[in-house]
Amino acid sequence: MTFLPLNRAATASILHAIWTRGPLSMEGVMEVAPELRPLEIVDSILRLNHAGVIDLDDTGVDPLYTELPGREREARELYVTLTGRRACRVCSCTDDWGCGECDWVETELCSACAGEDL
Ligand SMILES: [Zn+2]
Ligand SMILES: [Zn+2]
Repeated sequence: MTFLPLNRAATASILHAIWTRGPLSMEGVMEVAPELRPLEIVDSILRLNHAGVIDLDDTGVDPLYTELPGREREARELYVTLTGRRACRVCSCTDDWGCGECDWVETELCSACAGEDL
């Protein structure tokens, strides 16, 4: 058994694409991270699946990678961990993965969470 080094940027891109543009087929995932070899793609998907932030829909002809309902906050938290992006300290939304119609009210606080946080 071999362990591949984690490609953080590509894994983050795959996670982001599945949640914002999914469901994605394996082909769709490969287009998101063209720099990865197929084995590395599978490794990234397995890690995301193991972390409980994506799901697999294998009811159709081609398996589809989908978001996992109720786990968006955890998915965003992992995205922030992988990318080091500026994020809301309450909901972990970022500039490219908002929690809805929100804006920054502090460096690490979005407008959607500002009311709850005060
Ligand atoms: Zn927020
Ligand atoms: Zn937000």
